[in-house]
Amino acid sequence: MINSVTYFLDKIVGNYKGGFVIAYHQISENRFIEHQQLFEKLEAIPLIELLKRNKNGLNTKGLYSITIDDAYENTIEPLTQNLKVPITIFVQTDYIKGIIPDFVKFYIYQDLSNLDIVKNEYFNKFSIAIDNFFSELKLILYSQKTSQFNKFCEHYADFLKTNNFISDESMKNFLPSIGPLLISKLSKNELISFESHGKSHQPVSALTKDELSHELKSSINEILQLTGKVSKIFCYPYGQQISIGNIAPELVSLLFEFAVTMNPGRIKSSNPYLIPRIPFFEKDYKLRALAKISTLFYKQNGY
Ligand SMILES: [Zn+2]
Repeated sequence: MINSVTYFLDKIVGNYKGGFVIAYHQISENRFIEHQQLFEKLEAIPLIELLKRNKNGLNTKGLYSITIDDAYENTIEPLTQNLKVPITIFVQTDYIKGIIPDFVKFYIYQDLSNLDIVKNEYFNKFSIAIDNFFSELKLILYSQKTSQFNKFCEHYADFLKTNNFISDESMKNFLPSIGPLLISKLSKNELISFESHGKSHQPVSALTKDELSHELKSSINEILQLTGKVSKIFCYPYGQQISIGNIAPELVSLLFEFAVTMNPGRIKSSNPYLIPRIPFFEKDYKLRALAKISTLFYKQNGY
């Protein structure tokens, strides 16, 4: 019944705004299946096909594509066991080798700040306001290089290490990505495409042209080696305007056919190098998911 409501609402919004792209990060298999049931009367097609249709001015109403960023082991492994719909997985080529990206460090540092002993022995002791510390760190995460990120939290990271709250091993195991072997294996499944999420997951707005060019080319090469396919779609790390900047899309357009963001919205009339997506999280149970795909009023860059 609810899938008929979805179909009806999608038809109306699709008339104006075309199809849509779902952006997952961490998602359980159950919630993923629930979303699939909700969209049963729509058609999931590979991302590249959807974007090409849109670029060629063809109708994309009733169509959607599924993307998953960052390739977390806890999401990709269960989801790909009984996959029935096409998915695109955006991988960072450093992360798949076990190099921890800054955003994972951010989660760990923030998680540990909830412990009373860390609150008292670090934040209170040094008179640092926890909320300010993490909002500033988040801004750096989204807009600056790894070197700046590490510099800002070096003292705190040292405290956590010295007091055995973290180790290299525990950080690696906190939220691992799938590895190269599984990527090679999964790339043989016709329903799964691997595309580029860069190398280091630094915001592209913070990189020089040479640095960005290196990021893009090395990720294309590594994905080619693992899957035998050339990546045609780039996914901007963090996907926000502040992380993308104004210069990167032009450079990205020299190496990729399309690039996706985290700007919420549907794809009709969008720049091929700034494709919007609709983010879906674990908390998006049926009605929330339905509301998300039914709105005509996403603000560009406003999420
Ligand atoms: Zn990411």
